[in-house]
Amino acid sequence: MAVLGFWIIAILCIGAGLVLIVRGYGLKQIPKRASAYRRRYVQTVAQIELAVVKLNSLGNLVPHVRNGRVLDDYESALRMMETLLTALNRLPNFGTDRQVLGQVLPMVRRVDMKIEETYRKFKRSIEERPMLAHLLPQYQTETTPPAEGCYFCSRPFMRAYFKAASIKVEGIKLKVYGCHICIAELKATKKIKVLYFMEKGRPVHWSLCEGYKPMEQYWDLNRRKPSYQTPAIELIPEEV
Ligand SMILES: [Zn+2]
Repeated sequence: MAVLGFWIIAILCIGAGLVLIVRGYGLKQIPKRASAYRRRYVQTVAQIELAVVKLNSLGNLVPHVRNGRVLDDYESALRMMETLLTALNRLPNFGTDRQVLGQVLPMVRRVDMKIEETYRKFKRSIEERPMLAHLLPQYQTETTPPAEGCYFCSRPFMRAYFKAASIKVEGIKLKVYGCHICIAELKATKKIKVLYFMEKGRPVHWSLCEGYKPMEQYWDLNRRKPSYQTPAIELIPEEV
């Protein structure tokens, strides 16, 4: 009887130990899952921002489209965006369950497809009148993401959101593109952090680092150990 009691206690102890190990493993996973969630969330917001820019640029073309049915398509794209933004508002900014975000992604894809389809119809309608042909390249310029990112922080975004600036870095004159946030910071504080990566012990500007593509890796920066430097940068005022 005593032997049986010993085994029961031993099995219970092992069981409890296993539960603790599994639980400890689960807790360790939480920060990882939380950062994966956050990354995905920020990416989703960026994707939606891009769709909003496209819709706004399409809005500029609306007065030049005469076909009522084509305009109905634009209306329904707007309604879809409204539904998407409501769904986005319901998403928690921080969390651990990426499946929650998964519900929004098909909506983002559908809105994107609807915008593309509406643009194609707008294009056809506008091309019928050559006087207005110049409007189409403008839409492309406003909505095509730049190959690179902000000179300072490397944030990838649409050209419409970027500002050209002339700067002097350590005495050398450069014309660069920066996001509004960085340019405003440079104007206000006269100094700014710039993203570099350490290569062979030397800081190298992100644009010169082979294999770093802001479009794919900006949101994953923490994995690459970024090194932010504050070089002597002077903003050259624009000539009027
Ligand atoms: Zn920036």
